[in-house]
Amino acid sequence: MKPATRVVRAGLPAPQQSAPYLPGPTFAAPYHAAGEPSSAPYNYGRLHNPTWTLFEQALAELEGGPTLVFASGMAAIAAVFGATLRPGDKVVLPSDSYYLARVMASGYFTQMGVQVVMSPTANNSQLEQLDGAKLLWLETPSNPNLDVCDIAALVEAAHARGVLVAVDNTTATPLGQQPLALGADFSVASDTKGLTGHSDLILGHVAVREPSLLDGIRMWRNQIGAVPGPMEVWLAHRSLATLHLRLERQCANALAIARYLTTHPAVTDVRYPGLEGHPAHELAARQMRYYGSIVSFTLADAAAAQRFLSASKLIYEATSFGSLHSTAERRARWGGDVVAAGFIRMNVGCEAVEDLLADIEQALP
Ligand code: PLP
Repeated sequence: MKPATRVVRAGLPAPQQSAPYLPGPTFAAPYHAAGEPSSAPYNYGRLHNPTWTLFEQALAELEGGPTLVFASGMAAIAAVFGATLRPGDKVVLPSDSYYLARVMASGYFTQMGVQVVMSPTANNSQLEQLDGAKLLWLETPSNPNLDVCDIAALVEAAHARGVLVAVDNTTATPLGQQPLALGADFSVASDTKGLTGHSDLILGHVAVREPSLLDGIRMWRNQIGAVPGPMEVWLAHRSLATLHLRLERQCANALAIARYLTTHPAVTDVRYPGLEGHPAHELAARQMRYYGSIVSFTLADAAAAQRFLSASKLIYEATSFGSLHSTAERRARWGGDVVAAGFIRMNVGCEAVEDLLADIEQALP
């Protein structure tokens, strides 16, 4: 089945007379559950929910491995760290990964006695740090610099040393890249972003290659309780059906915009893995089906970037990415990422590319 078909049908129950295609959200704290707890598939709402079950089945089909949903991308990341890392363990992170993942590892997990080492995503430089590690954490393409590493090569080197591998697949989504098929043990994502794509919910998930790895993730979720509300998960499932449509449009728009930006004299360092000039374009072409919706570029300084953001009429000035609305922000305003003051991270949405290009042209100096 083609991904475009699979994503429309993923997780939908078998047709039943007069039933909706996607049953509405189930709102429940306790469920009727008399007798032996194991005789009731649902007994308490922190542990399971039928709306989660359908969405988790959908994600499992797309990821290629059993999946659990979480209240946010950060909750999903915390679950993998929390389920795998113990005092004395070493974790290897990308030094350019989503900054709160780094903050959580080097703050909380360092205090718990975990050794945290970091290397950049580019040139597979995390390979140098693998000896003695328990977990290798990858993020490719990395956010916001869009560097790319070779998942299969890093997995091979990690597994040869008994190191587990997790990939934050947020920027690519499972239609753009399949970490489990490339050998990773965990595929983790913020579903707040492109997977759901409508800027209206916070959600995350963890998928695993070996079903036994799900036990620790489930235990973490049950005990920490970072669970999503059924309404968010239902909305996410509804939005998932258009992921292929959105991604195709967003990626085509992103490539056209990236190409345009490379020709503009006021713009430097245009980054998009789909650009032939991207340092890891060949690897990205091998590893990814879609290059994602983010284009990064640099203007002269903070003031020039701010002028661009204010002059644009179509692009919302906002953080986050993946949504069908085009957005952009001056990334250095947050601190935490090693980027120039005029660095802009743009999320390219589903608007007509002619309108976006015209807007960008009038907003640039
Ligand atoms: N991973 C990446 C790559 C992200 O960009 C983000 C958020 O920006 C997260 C994880 C965290 O996701 P959430 O905001 O859903 O907790």
